[in-house]
Order: sequence, then C-alpha cells, then structure tokens
Amino acid sequence: MRIDSATRDQLQEWEKELSAQYQRICQHELSLDITRGKPSAEQLHLSDRLDGILNGDFRAADGTDTRNYGGLEGLVCARELGADILQVPTEEVLAGGNSSLTLMYHAVLTGYLFGFAGSKPWRELQSPKFLCPVPGYDRHFSICEQLGIGMVTVPMTDSGPDMDAVEEQIRNDRDIIGIWCVPKFSNPTGVTYSKETVDRLAQLGQFANPGFRIFWDNAYAIHDLEQQVNLPSIRAATQEHDTADSVLQFASTSKVTHAGAGVAFVSASTANLASLKKQMQAMTIGPDKVNQLRHSRFFAEFTMLREHMQKHAQILKPKFECVLNQLESAFGDSDLGGWEKPKGGYFVSFNTRPGCAAAVVKLAADAGVKLTPAGATFPYGKDPEDRNIRIAPSFPPLEELDTAMSVFVLCVKLASVRQQLE
Ligand code: PLP
Repeated sequence: MRIDSATRDQLQEWEKELSAQYQRICQHELSLDITRGKPSAEQLHLSDRLDGILNGDFRAADGTDTRNYGGLEGLVCARELGADILQVPTEEVLAGGNSSLTLMYHAVLTGYLFGFAGSKPWRELQSPKFLCPVPGYDRHFSICEQLGIGMVTVPMTDSGPDMDAVEEQIRNDRDIIGIWCVPKFSNPTGVTYSKETVDRLAQLGQFANPGFRIFWDNAYAIHDLEQQVNLPSIRAATQEHDTADSVLQFASTSKVTHAGAGVAFVSASTANLASLKKQMQAMTIGPDKVNQLRHSRFFAEFTMLREHMQKHAQILKPKFECVLNQLESAFGDSDLGGWEKPKGGYFVSFNTRPGCAAAVVKLAADAGVKLTPAGATFPYGKDPEDRNIRIAPSFPPLEELDTAMSVFVLCVKLASVRQQLE
C-alpha cells in the first residue's frame, strides 16, 4: 500500500475495506496491552531460585554480615557484578538498592543541589538544561520535568544522538549540564551507539560547562537477542580525552532477575562517586546487602550471567520476530511508517506518517489494544510531529502479542488512509 501515489478513489476504497475489518475486530472485545517494557512471568521464573539461595548463610566472602547496617558503597561482590556488567573497575562502582532510576534521580539531585566534583550546583545557573535525544525514555524526562530542569531535544540517528546537533547546542549554551543516553539497544529505538558517537560524546567534557555530565544509562548492557553487540567503552574514551569526570554510568539487574527486586549500580570517577556518596549518606545508612548477596551467589561467575541472559533471549526472540515480521509484511513495501530492527533490548519504535500516531493509539485503544501514549517518548509527552509509537513486546504471551500487532498494523493503515482523505 503506497498512499502518496494513490488516487482518491483508491483511498476511499481502502478506507471502506479497512473500516469494515476494524469494525469486525472491535466486536471481539479484546483486552490486550503492549505498553510497558516489563519482563513476562516466564522470564521472571528464570530467577526464582534467588528465593532461599542464602539458606541461612548471610556472610559475604569478605566476612561482612549482610544482615546488619552499613556499607554505603554496597558489598564488594555486588560491586564486582556491576563492574562486570558495565565493564569498568570494581573500585569505580557503587552497588545500591533495587533501582537504577533511583540512582539517576539522586545523581541529578546531586548535580542540581550540590554540584559534582567541586563544580557549581546546577541550580545556580540561569536555566539549567539537559539534552534529550528523541525518541527517548519517558522516565528520564520526568526527572528533569519534576526538578524544573529544561529539556532540549536532539534527534536520534541509527548510530546514536545526532552529534552535530549535540555539539552545536553545547557550544552555544553554557547552561547545558547533562545529556540522557541509553547507549546500547536504546529505549525505544533499539540503536547501539557507534564508536564515532561514543568518541565524540567523550570529547564534550573538553568544552562543555565543567558541571556537565553524560548520564550513560546502560540498562540493556547485556540484553542481546543473538550474538553480542559491542558497545564501545565510554570510560576508555573519556580517559583518552581526559574527561573522565564527565560521565556517570548506570545499570541494574531489573530485567535480569526480578524486576523491582534487583540490584542497581552506578559507576563514575572517584571525584564523582565522592559527590554522590556525600549526598546519599544523609539519606541512607546503606543498601539492602542481603539482596546483593543473593545476586552475587546466583551469578557466582560472569559466565552464569551470560547463560542466564541467553535464556531471556530465547523467550524474547520469538516476540521480537513476531513484531518485526508483522511490521515487515504490512509495511515493508509502503510509505506508511518506518522502524529499526533491534538486536536486543526491550522495544521496537515505530514512526507513522507525520500527524498519525495519536490517531493510531486511539483507534487501537477503542479496539481493546493498549499502546504507549503517543508522545510519551518525548519531553513533556509532546511529539511535535506526532509520529512515534513505542512497542513493548516482552510482557504478553506470544499469541496475544500477535493479535495485538494485527490490530496495530490495521490501525496504522486506517489512520493513514483517513488522514490522507481529509
Ligand atoms: N533505564 C531504562 C532505559 C529503562 O528502559 C528502564 C526500565 O524500563 C530503567 C532504566 C529502569 O531501571 P531500574 O528498574 O533499574 O530502575
């Protein structure tokens, strides 16, 4: 189906056919949901052995009694796990509580209230702002929005953020104090940053405001569907360019073990970690070390973690294939939309024709299929071109996902044809 070259008669004919199909689907009273990127129950079961794994032995290898207070940086064995995931030295890792998003929030607060590594607190600037590659992760944007930090969008490309745009913004505006990055299997486009992008990001610290920090949210560091995709090391690049203080890296086991009951990590230079710890020590005596020990025992070797992730991939792969096959067969030879083909992560990002996304989401909702709200992948929930829709294949069973995707492609076709007829 190619809309741009269709005659009005053809469009009217399609509209009639598609509307009839849509009416039939509405009669099925579906109730399906492909909104949030949550692991399925089958994936969660992979980690059920965590429960009871300590079997009364609460002592870590270094003798720490994990049941007691203390240890702001987390257990050494948990920090080692974080170091393996992020591929950084253990001394540069703090193992925290259950959520990397919480650590990111605290890091933003640290920058805002106190400043990192002796630089000026962001609140003292006239209008502190983050660069936000779009489409991006809505919860990053919510942190900025809640704290009144401005957001400047830059486009995502198939090799990461548009670096010309990033550099230009930073050169022209000293109040840019951060950038959100999901460098591997980006949320939602699935793109992994190229070596050139990583290298150019690492150089930003040479000319940005000294308080500028890259928030390197490596949430999908080990979430490959097939062979491992290599993300160039931002740590190595910043060391090479003498900008080690310009980056804070984050990861967690949320989508590795039990989402919401995992362990989160932040990695940064000694000076940055000192700033973070100073803020955190007033807030907590220490993290849940018992859960950290459970995770260290569960993944006694890094190879065990890799094997575990392959089991996730086996469950997730057919779901990604289902989404990508449906998109390819419906739109492979059309001008109705575009998408990336992720090799890991949790999402597929679909771009409709401009001005159609909200209509697609509404049509799908009325037919019983819940999609992520149009605009959610942009700051303030506003997609200026009304194009982007994030599809999350992980949670529903395969059969339900397949039905939901059939409804999705139908709604994209119907919304596009109707728009063209207006
Ligand atoms: N970062 C990204 C890019 C995510 O997609 C998610 C969850 O969807 C998170 C962070 C949340 O991580 P956590 O559960 O560790 O807070």
